[in-house]
Amino acid sequence: MDTVKKIDVLRSRLKEASRNGKSVGLVPTMGFLHEGHLSLIKRAREENDLLVVSLFVNPTQFGPGEDLESYPRDLEKDADSCSAEGADILFAPDAGEMYFEDYGTYVEVSGGLTKGLCGKSRPTHFRGVTSVVSKLFNIVEPDRAYFGQKDAQQVAVIKRMVRDLNFDVEIVVCPIVREADGLAKSSRNIYLSEVERKAALVLNRSLKAASERISSGERNGDEIKAMVENMIKQEPLSAIDYVEVVDAENMKPLEILKGSVLLALAVRFGKARLIDNIRLEVE
Ligand code: AMP
Repeated sequence: MDTVKKIDVLRSRLKEASRNGKSVGLVPTMGFLHEGHLSLIKRAREENDLLVVSLFVNPTQFGPGEDLESYPRDLEKDADSCSAEGADILFAPDAGEMYFEDYGTYVEVSGGLTKGLCGKSRPTHFRGVTSVVSKLFNIVEPDRAYFGQKDAQQVAVIKRMVRDLNFDVEIVVCPIVREADGLAKSSRNIYLSEVERKAALVLNRSLKAASERISSGERNGDEIKAMVENMIKQEPLSAIDYVEVVDAENMKPLEILKGSVLLALAVRFGKARLIDNIRLEVE
């Protein structure tokens, strides 16, 4: 596996591959890889001839006061993990390689899709995500790109961008990978103290309880939302950012649960802001 830092070097490698008719898979990440990322890489490895993993802590998707500086990084370990999973190229550009000093072009999905849930407390986040993912799609021109259901709103936003801007790429969505005790794997879990980590188990517990309640017939969105909020509030270390019950495709709040339902939340425990969700098909 090669670690490539320069866009022109990556492009010439990719041109060669496309001349030889090889399919290209892309897994965009911010690094500090865990089993969640690796599940995307494994799937992409199976489905493509050439596999590019990108590792870039993208400054434009962090807001003022967020954890851009302290975001965990370990390029050497990540390169070993990618190599062990059979990736062909690890693309790890510096910020200066991706953004000129006078950079000023952004891709933004407007409307409700980016205004609620994470978009409410992180108003410039999705603009940063869609801009950098557009750049990666233009640089790599992948046949398939792999994203985790863990970031359910991000998936919906990227699918919309791909549709609206006619990107010629298939978006493959992979299930949430969890620790044995149910905590969704995340690079940010490293911020949790031992007690906070224990408290954070309430997230998966409350999503499961809500899903059971829906299975036994509850169809009122507000009831489900209140139930999850109440369970989380029992944990004194938690601070809820949001709990929402929305349509999984357009992120609109649902009063009555029907169709593809997404129960999504963001909750702070100390320094860590954790997100989790569950998607259900409701009759
Ligand atoms: P990140 O490095 O946090 O930007 O994540 C890169 C990709 O990995 C995104 O598509 C995430 O949704 C995905 N991902 C992160 N955590 C998980 C997880 N626990 N399970 C599945 N996918 C994940």
